[in-house]
Amino acid sequence: MGIKKSRFIRVKCPDCENTQPIFDHPSTVVKCLVCGRTLVEPTGGEGRIKAEIVEILE
Ligand SMILES: [Zn+2]
Repeated sequence: MGIKKSRFIRVKCPDCENTQPIFDHPSTVVKCLVCGRTLVEPTGGEGRIKAEIVEILE
């Protein structure tokens, strides 16, 4: 438990392998900039990540 710090992470799209930085506590759905696939869904807290995390950006 405890408060989780929000951060930026780099994720790889499972469909087109584009990588892009995203905020892991999004307030709206984050989509791949190339193909439009949903990468993260908002939950009110930490987002539900639906892509591969390749790097923590802090
Ligand atoms: Zn994509």
